[in-house]
Amino acid sequence: MKIIVCIKQVPGTNEVKTDPVTNTIIRENIPAILNPFDAYAIEEAVRIKERRGAFIYGISMGIPAAREVLREALALGIDKGILMTDKRFAGADTLATAYTLSKGIERIGDFDLIICGRQATDGDTAQVGPSLARTLNIACATDISRIIEIKDKEMRCLKITDDGYEEILIKLPALITVVKEINMPRLPSIKSMKLARRAEIDIVGFDDIMTDENRTGLKGSPTRVRKVFVPVQQVETSMIEGTLEEKAQKLSELLLSVGMEVK
Ligand SMILES: Cc1cc2nc3c(=O)[nH]c(=O)nc-3n(C[C@H](O)[C@H](O)[C@H](O)COP(=O)(O)OP(=O)(O)OC[C@H]3O[C@@H](n4cnc5c(N)ncnc54)[C@H](O)[C@@H]3O)c2cc1C
Repeated sequence: MKIIVCIKQVPGTNEVKTDPVTNTIIRENIPAILNPFDAYAIEEAVRIKERRGAFIYGISMGIPAAREVLREALALGIDKGILMTDKRFAGADTLATAYTLSKGIERIGDFDLIICGRQATDGDTAQVGPSLARTLNIACATDISRIIEIKDKEMRCLKITDDGYEEILIKLPALITVVKEINMPRLPSIKSMKLARRAEIDIVGFDDIMTDENRTGLKGSPTRVRKVFVPVQQVETSMIEGTLEEKAQKLSELLLSVGMEVK
């Protein structure tokens, strides 16, 4: 079985700066971490490998420093790390990210399953997984909280919904996105971390995928983030004075004035 895990490097800090012209995140020189949801995706792939055997590719599109999250994934049990990095991939929105990743995946060849995290903690859109499945024209199931059974040509999973859970059957090859309820990611051993340090990561640039420059990076991104800001929370406090009855009366008037029901 061939499994591909999509792994994103995200800022490990809230002190994120954005480019004033493009409104994209400035990713250079800030602490970066493995996207927390992708740790669950890696763990689930490794558990499938342990149960029935598999070769796991980890693929990431990002700056050269994103090599580090692939090393972390190697230490956790994936078999091969692929980093898609090129100036012509920079500033991508979800559409361009999904397209670029699809080209990297086509380069790998046939596969059975792609696992993504539910969402990335920076862009936070949860769009890349479904968009990637659409681009590759394969089945997609989001918010998977348990893989019940996986066979050569199909898998049964539990999907979290607003009302509870749905049990679904998916034909392979397919893409799933996973939520944190799916497992408890393991910690890497010292030995596996040392081996991962020395492992070779495949670097894939624009010329390796030979694709349309109008579909990658900022040029291939129809989304424009117009403004990025931290919302200001305004909290007003008013003190209610008087006797107990007066306070209760004023409080009920106040609550009614903001549309709340008073019984
Ligand atoms: C504040 C802010 C708002 C933004 N808003 C939008 C927006 O509304 N629309 C838009 O199109 N873009 C937006 N972007 C750009 C966004 O950063 C990129 O589109 C990003 O490459 C992917 O989207 P995401 O982070 O939302 O990933 P998600 O869709 O949340 O990620 C889901 C999963 O996809 C996989 N994945 C995602 N990116 C990669 C990658 N580079 N390499 C490997 N696997 C990956 C991971 O498994 C991840 O867990 C925004 C960026 C910022 C900073």
